[in-house]
Amino acid sequence: MNILLVAINSKYTHTNLGMHCLYNYARSQGLVLSLIEEAIQVPILTVLAEITARKPDLVGINVHIWNRNYVYELAALVRQVLPKIVIVLGGPEVGFTPELAKQECQAADYIICGEGEETFLSLCQDLEQGQHPQLSTVPTVVADLSSLPFPYENLPQLVAEHKLVYYECSRGCPFTCSYCLSGISHAVRRRPLNLVLADLQKFMDAKVPLVKFVDRTYNLDENYYLPILQFLAKADTETTFHCEIKADLLSEQVLAFLATMPKKRLQFEIGVQTTNTETLRAIGRQDNWLELSSNVQRLLSYGNIHVHLDLIAGLPYEDFVSWQHSFNAVYKLQPQMLQLGFLKVLRGAAISLQQKEHGILHMAQPPYEVLATKYLNYEQMRFLKVLEDVFDHTYNTGKYQHSLNFLVQEIYGGVPFACYSAITSWWERHQLYEAGHSVREAGLLLLGFVQEMHPGQAAHFAEILRFDIFLGQPNWRPEELCWHTEKLRQRTLQFWRNLKVVHKYFPEYEFTTWRKLRKYLPVESFTWTPQAGFGSEHYILADYTNPGCYLELEEF
Ligand code: SF4
Repeated sequence: MNILLVAINSKYTHTNLGMHCLYNYARSQGLVLSLIEEAIQVPILTVLAEITARKPDLVGINVHIWNRNYVYELAALVRQVLPKIVIVLGGPEVGFTPELAKQECQAADYIICGEGEETFLSLCQDLEQGQHPQLSTVPTVVADLSSLPFPYENLPQLVAEHKLVYYECSRGCPFTCSYCLSGISHAVRRRPLNLVLADLQKFMDAKVPLVKFVDRTYNLDENYYLPILQFLAKADTETTFHCEIKADLLSEQVLAFLATMPKKRLQFEIGVQTTNTETLRAIGRQDNWLELSSNVQRLLSYGNIHVHLDLIAGLPYEDFVSWQHSFNAVYKLQPQMLQLGFLKVLRGAAISLQQKEHGILHMAQPPYEVLATKYLNYEQMRFLKVLEDVFDHTYNTGKYQHSLNFLVQEIYGGVPFACYSAITSWWERHQLYEAGHSVREAGLLLLGFVQEMHPGQAAHFAEILRFDIFLGQPNWRPEELCWHTEKLRQRTLQFWRNLKVVHKYFPEYEFTTWRKLRKYLPVESFTWTPQAGFGSEHYILADYTNPGCYLELEEF
């Protein structure tokens, strides 16, 4: 039997861990099959042609929230062109509601529920022997993760194609957040440590830039995950590892250890979702906000780990005011990224049974995003969507930290929501929503906002914005702002010629070329600095070889 797996990803840069696991496990058990990976951006007829060219007898396709409609249409086309083919679907979008999936995608012969490696293998073996088995409609799990081989056989190729590589050392989650499907199978299973360390070494040897762990909660068992982190800390590598953690579970020992982690080795994603205790209780989360926020503050103070926090709007009991409290509290931690998400009422998730109770209205089709609840009406939800857009274009770029801080602290009384809601209203008035703006345009939009809404503060804001741009955007000197580089040219040359002074700042300095100095170590003057605030002129040297680093030149 000619068996083909087809992974449909949300972007070209993604890899499909689930399908690679299925493929490599089946191969390791002696099944002959092939795998192709495509993205939803590829025209569906191109994928159809790719499938039919291989003349498969069986095709297996993954179904997720982001590719459901594409896959259903693809399956129907495959059925038309290859009427005798066996079509197998699996993945979270179909695995928890198989009967419904069968109704919606009548081309499908089988739906795999739960983790597919063993089920898919035995299904193929049965079919090869002429049997037509019934599959379980209850999600199944793989009990022993040591039975699964390393998921990627072609790492160098994935790196060459700039693919984002996913990996998991454990499956299952002991928690039961009502909006999530991962908690449905409580059983947490772990891949033996020695195998995990060997797998991670393969990623580092292949120089994979970023490995994302998809373990649902990475830091459940310290005896298991701490040795992994210690191994990563010692490694001589440029690879960054991204993990989702529960920050309130970090112990003193782990926190102290994390301070020693090499810079850029780790990224942490931490789901806060809300700080409202009634909401937390209703969605089945037992997070301790005080512990969580104090641990996040500590992590951020180390400056070596990128911290990404998440909030969700549209949860039970979270109204407009309560969401603002959550937002203000989380914003004050100043993570490198704060993702403002919206509840998705996933099929099979516990919250889908509580819609009436909480007046939840949501999109009937993927991504099933919330439109309104008993607590947040549609207009408020829509406003928060625009606020999310503003936030992603400004704060989450990481390029306007001081400028935004000035707005929040000096113009909006230290209340982040007041600041971002004012920008949001302005953004809507100017029809900037969903228009797509570059990082540079966003900077100029912020300037436009202040010039229009707070003209008395515009000069001060422009100076801080100039500082942010000078440090964070080396190749951009917008003419809307007043630059002094040319005026300082002669003085800058004199500075670099005065080796006695230069060596105070750069003990190892050796002259290379003027071009390099101008390009990588430019000097600019400002009447504002983060340390001194507004006042006399300061000479700032930006070090573009170390992004974000700068020196104030007292002798210039
Ligand atoms: S949201 Fe996270 S912690 Fe909660 S059940 Fe899902 S995976 Fe587990």
